Amino acid sequence: MDFILLGPPGAGKGTQAKLMVDKWNIPQISTGDILRAAVREGTTLGVEAKGFMDRGALVPDRVVIGIIAERLTEEDAVNGFILDGFPRTIPQAEALQQILDGLNRAIDHVISIEVEDEELVTRLTGRRMCKECGESFHVVFNPSSSEGTCDRCSGELYQRDDDKEETIRQRLAVYSEQTQPLIAHYEEQGRLRRIPGTGSIENIFSRVLEAAGN
Ligand code: ADP
Ligand code: ADP
Ligand code: ZN
Repeated sequence: MDFILLGPPGAGKGTQAKLMVDKWNIPQISTGDILRAAVREGTTLGVEAKGFMDRGALVPDRVVIGIIAERLTEEDAVNGFILDGFPRTIPQAEALQQILDGLNRAIDHVISIEVEDEELVTRLTGRRMCKECGESFHVVFNPSSSEGTCDRCSGELYQRDDDKEETIRQRLAVYSEQTQPLIAHYEEQGRLRRIPGTGSIENIFSRVLEAAGN
């Protein structure tokens, strides 16, 4: 099962990906998580990516394509993967196609999670993320049971630097310009399933299962 989760920042891709990991025992591959880890560790990759991320811009295609090319050949991805936050541009989608051709595999399902902009701003300004496992919480909509601590791994929760309103609006604009065209791209290939991203997390997960033919 090879999945792509598409959708604007705050649509719930990460939240749904975690449930999919538990269901199918395949890894979530989030370019955002990989880049944030690199920034934290101060690697060359992190130093290059940080400026783009802080202003809500996309990191250059060649950088993220390199990350994915390497990550998809790791052993835990042999039975499937959930791409969360990649691809985000047409060149990234084309590069992914080439990488997968080379591995003799193909994307099974592209699931596009749809939520309106104002709801996205409310979600992202209240988001708290786990430093250790990347799980997302929300101060109102999905609070952790003990404030500041991750329910999944007991890691510390924090507010991302780019989850402030000005940067959020910039990221939403970048999404409509650069990532939205992927919806038509995958629709033409007949692989796209759109699901409404509002309602309870469990409800949305049942739509994900249905979209995946379960
Ligand atoms: P993405 O990975 O698409 O950026 P996240 O999964 O991090 O999105 O979710 C963004 C924010 O919205 C988080 O604070 C999360 O707890 C919250 N959230 C996720 N799903 C829902 C939902 N169905 N209803 C309300 N809030 C949600
Ligand atoms: P969200 O789902 O909230 O938009 P992500 O964690 O997926 O956030 O991404 C955070 C930031 O990391 C993006 O704003 C961008 O700067 C960078 N990034 C992540 N994935 C990609 C990608 N596929 N291409 C380019 N930049 C990316
Ligand atoms: Zn955690």
